[in-house]
Amino acid sequence: MTLATRSHEATPILSLPDRPGGPVIGVLAVQGDFAEHLRMLARVGATGVEVRTPEDLERVDALIIPGGESTAIGKLLARYGLDVAIVARASVPSPDPGGATGQGEPPRPPLAIWGTCAGMILMARDIGDSGSKVVAQPLLGLMDLSVRRNAFGNQLDSFETDLDAPVVSPRQPVHAVFIRAPLIERAGEGVEILARLPDGRPVAARQGHLLATAFHPELTNDLSFHRYFVERVAAATSFAELPVR
Ligand code: GLN
Repeated sequence: MTLATRSHEATPILSLPDRPGGPVIGVLAVQGDFAEHLRMLARVGATGVEVRTPEDLERVDALIIPGGESTAIGKLLARYGLDVAIVARASVPSPDPGGATGQGEPPRPPLAIWGTCAGMILMARDIGDSGSKVVAQPLLGLMDLSVRRNAFGNQLDSFETDLDAPVVSPRQPVHAVFIRAPLIERAGEGVEILARLPDGRPVAARQGHLLATAFHPELTNDLSFHRYFVERVAAATSFAELPVR
């Protein structure tokens, strides 16, 4: 059983050139490498806008939380009231949009969100025991993931590698840049692992309309994850594809 599809979302956005209006992808622009994400969105033909306030968030169909410093980004989110606004818009709405009367406005589909690196940390439910007891790490807690910050230690502070990610890039590996990257230590049942390091450790995951990558596609020439997010994850937030809870 699925929820009704809103009329203007009846056509999935599978081919962006066919939908010149396309979805508007917000990029959280309070700290970190948001400019690089905006450049990548332009390269895949999507409309990207900076998001700094809850009002900005109202105007977007999807959101990217960039890499940077997750503690700083988390604190700024709270300062601007964006943490509450993001969590509210990312939630799957109740299957009874009209309430008791059935007369209400149809609810909006939940906000698709992609967190890269620091953004992935913010998406996670918890940071295992990797958070120092004295550092309060603000989290959005949207994805059923436990992540470990700075998981690669000093020697592998930053590195590049090619990853197999067949769902995202069926024909060729994805080039990935890791910078003081987190690692997924636990993924819940509803989470699909999209990419692993050659040693098998997971570094990209999707949970319905939510996506997380430990690495930075925005710092490479590899457009596959940006394409995947815009064409598959953001497009899938039509009600037709959402399970009723
Ligand atoms: N290590 C950073 C953090 O914990 C993330 C690094 C990054 O986004 N490149 O927030």
